[in-house]
Amino acid sequence: MTGEAGPGAGGAQAGPTGAAGAAGAAEAAEAHGLSGHELRLDPLTGEWVAIVARRQDRPNLPSGGCPFCVGGLEAPEPYTVRAFENRWPAFLPGPPAGAADRRTQGGFTWWPPRGAAEVVLYSPGHDGSLGTIGVEGVRAVVDLWAERTEALMGRPEIEYVLVFENRGEEVGATIDHPHGQIYAFPFVPPVPRREAAVAATDGCPLCRTVPHELAAGIRVVGRAGRWVSYVPFASGYPYGMLVAPEDHRPSLSDLDGAARDALATLLHDAVARYDRLFDRPMPYLLWVHPGVHLHVHLAPPMRAPGVQRFVASGEVGSGTLSNPVAPEAAAEALRRA
Ligand SMILES: [Zn+2]
Ligand SMILES: [Zn+2]
Ligand SMILES: [Zn+2]
Repeated sequence: MTGEAGPGAGGAQAGPTGAAGAAGAAEAAEAHGLSGHELRLDPLTGEWVAIVARRQDRPNLPSGGCPFCVGGLEAPEPYTVRAFENRWPAFLPGPPAGAADRRTQGGFTWWPPRGAAEVVLYSPGHDGSLGTIGVEGVRAVVDLWAERTEALMGRPEIEYVLVFENRGEEVGATIDHPHGQIYAFPFVPPVPRREAAVAATDGCPLCRTVPHELAAGIRVVGRAGRWVSYVPFASGYPYGMLVAPEDHRPSLSDLDGAARDALATLLHDAVARYDRLFDRPMPYLLWVHPGVHLHVHLAPPMRAPGVQRFVASGEVGSGTLSNPVAPEAAAEALRRA
């Protein structure tokens, strides 16, 4: 903020204690060309941050029953799997934002949050998960992920599509009905960008390490066709897993039917194992990384039954994760689950 925007700017309008309230703050921001919904460049890291202030208005739990059950707000017609635009999107559709749309003022840079945000329903049944809807059910989800990724990547304003799921209230899921999400970004975000940079420098890391994982076997959890699920050598998360193909395939659209079946089999197996591991539905983060050599990350926020693992200051402040469970022990526990 510049000096003019300090407390009390606007004189008589803002009370003696500066209690202009949220509306006053929004007006003050608007005077600086800020809507509260934009991509802002962090001057410290050079990375974009999505400011989505309007999302604070969304209800935690929709009233009037589950919106994802057939007949609900977001699913008026019967379906098997279904994708639709998020009602509270972090990214908005629109023409590609060019240099003219990028604003720089007072040393700060911001940009319209161009892109897309969608919700993916995994099943019409309200209770269930990737671990209970059957391999065929998961295969239908994989097909929809592939279809939506391809459609979104075909739009000129979109540079990267991230399919993901937050499961469980521990990681902020507000609706139980089995579902995931998709964010379509107008840039390649830092994590996949970094993975691509490593591959560009050193060659594909999965082509190099998956054969070693299979040969050693000590971190392998499951196998299906030419796919494998395993706890990675340097897993940042207790019980974290990767699901990857032996063959170098950049995206979901590059997978034939057999490969999609194998991926579905291993996702189903992974979530079912998680739920058996601590004898309760395991909360987890899941995200799909297309780009170099397709893979799926799974990251539960738990370190033991009933014990949550927080990514806290030492890790957030350094960018170096510390994992209290040895990957080999995690793999053994997951194989037994
Ligand atoms: Zn439901
Ligand atoms: Zn590869
Ligand atoms: Zn990755």
